[in-house]
Amino acid sequence: MHFDTVAPPLTSARLDICVGGEEKKKKGLGQTATMSVQVVAAKMAEVELKDVPTVKDLPAVSPVETPASEGKSLARGDPQKAGSSDAASPTAEPSAKAGEGSLASLAPNHAKMPQASAMKRTDPQQNGGEAFVNRDGTVAEAPRMKKIQFADQKQEFNKRPSKIGRRSLSRSISQSSTDSYSSAASYTDSSDDETSPRDKQQKNSKGNGDFCIKNIKQADFGRREIEIAEQEMPALMALRKRAQGEKPLAGAKVVGCTHITAQTAVLMETLSALGAQCRWAACNIYSTQNEVAAALAEGGFSVFAWKGESEDDFWWCIDRCVNVEGWQPNMILDDGGDLTHWIYKKYPNMFKKIKGIVEESVTGVHRLYQLSKAGKLCVPAMNVNDSVTKQKFDNLYCCRESILDGLKRTTDVMFGGKQVVVCGYGEVGKGCCAALKAMGSIVYVTEIDPICALQACMDGFRLVKLNEVIRQVDIVITCTGNKNVVVREYLDRMKNGCIVCNMGHSNTEIDVASLRTPELTWERVRSQVDHVIWPDGKRIVLLAEGRLLNLSCSTVPTFVLSITATTQALALIELYNAPEGRYKQDVYLLPKKMDEYVASLHLPTFDAHLTELSDEQAKYLGLNKNGPFKPNYYRY
Ligand code: NAD
Repeated sequence: MHFDTVAPPLTSARLDICVGGEEKKKKGLGQTATMSVQVVAAKMAEVELKDVPTVKDLPAVSPVETPASEGKSLARGDPQKAGSSDAASPTAEPSAKAGEGSLASLAPNHAKMPQASAMKRTDPQQNGGEAFVNRDGTVAEAPRMKKIQFADQKQEFNKRPSKIGRRSLSRSISQSSTDSYSSAASYTDSSDDETSPRDKQQKNSKGNGDFCIKNIKQADFGRREIEIAEQEMPALMALRKRAQGEKPLAGAKVVGCTHITAQTAVLMETLSALGAQCRWAACNIYSTQNEVAAALAEGGFSVFAWKGESEDDFWWCIDRCVNVEGWQPNMILDDGGDLTHWIYKKYPNMFKKIKGIVEESVTGVHRLYQLSKAGKLCVPAMNVNDSVTKQKFDNLYCCRESILDGLKRTTDVMFGGKQVVVCGYGEVGKGCCAALKAMGSIVYVTEIDPICALQACMDGFRLVKLNEVIRQVDIVITCTGNKNVVVREYLDRMKNGCIVCNMGHSNTEIDVASLRTPELTWERVRSQVDHVIWPDGKRIVLLAEGRLLNLSCSTVPTFVLSITATTQALALIELYNAPEGRYKQDVYLLPKKMDEYVASLHLPTFDAHLTELSDEQAKYLGLNKNGPFKPNYYRY
């Protein structure tokens, strides 16, 4: 999402970021440190949401009752017990927080809500679906769709699909965001056991069965994966340390729906260390690392996810996270908006207790802005997607690292001396160009924007039109976010063996459909690699059928995910601890101060030494010595 498409800020507010003990100690108050920042509530794009009630429609009645009996005797080390110093049980409510009561009047009207129902989903191929390659070489699609459509009939989980039905469902689309990134590769293959996890009795070694995963026996393997991820997620580990003396998420009951990978596990275990109880489902039917889910379940987390879920499974897992006796979430951590949407549709009165939503993906954020615009957002939401650090790291640095990985894994191409054209010199294009240049490739750039074009020139790249170089280049990479950048005319003129791939959001940049004509032969030579052969024998090498190369064919650096995960954790802490009135029912961008803090937590990895402003310098620049150091419009 780019803010030039978003209306100007609506509101600004002071934000206190609760960052843990060290900050508090610095203040000498033993209390949450406060950082004065400007929070911008961005406006949303135009949308239509017919079946969600407006805030004014909502009565103050909650049909979701929390049992009066709230046990307080959970065993040590169980994440479900985390949350308060007195070891609150899974049913325990957080201590009364300012502002909680204000949500009562916002609870949606159950009667007015449409019934939850089965989802109609369309063919992934029509929706820019992505795909993941497992390390065992199997391929799994992780498709994308534009929006959820609810059918009229009620979702009935008991009507289980037949095996064939399940298989066909698993080809259908998961709304889960593929806008966000995950190292989706898994060492495990879900096909080794045909029995659905839903049909198995599952228990971990402590006798806890409040989870549903593929195979609990993989827990040790998953634990090693998590430990590897921890090495590259220094900020979350630092947050854990800082929170040793206090629990900023004590009493928080976080329901999450994200990719379930080793990196997510590090986030979940951090939230637990900060005091939260967590229940989690996957936001994508293919991206779950089964061994990681097993390690989480063994560690006491209520995880409902496995790789290769059917669509019915997908919603069943989400439902199992929220529809549980004696436990009601008070925070949502979502990636793609499916969980949020499910609660809106099925359990709207849960919003009476929910203090906020943290959303990571472009798609999910867009849906929140839609709700806000329609006056139907009934709790505050944090837009993590558009924080500066996420944008810079996901787009520029992540692509700089993963472009070579994706090309190498699929084609084993040597980059030195190869002629490459990169279409688009935005953040993604800049990352790709930098990596290829460093490998000794001769890089050409195409651009429509004179500013980015000038940047490309100044960075030492030849700015060309595609038709000027299309006959000679060895590799074509699209990174524009646009459509029909590489059309059939160009594909016809490419030389034999030219590699064609896309790094942009959707599969619209290369006109792949134009290659599906009778005179051209398609040959699948590897997973995610097609040779398209012309009648004269010329062949081009098409990667991932024009879908996002790095998501489809490689993994994403854990360090990048660390930055996003840290931002998510801080956003949860902030929303959970915010006093009544600080946040309204709107979508908030993360304050610059929070971005700076996330970055600063990652600096020790590099033994980086940050210069401190002197009093005199701070005065001269008109800055607070502790930041924020840049105005909101600064572009980095
Ligand atoms: P950006 O807007 O910064 O850059 C895109 C550039 O393409 C712009 O400079 C624009 O002027 C240029 N452009 C548009 N149409 C063009 C055309 N026909 N020919 C040449 N240039 C053209 O966006 P970005 O952050 O670089 O992201 C680009 C795409 O990559 C988006 O779709 C984004 O969602 C996606 N993305 C991918 C990844 C990944 O991991 N692969 C990560 C982040 C974003």
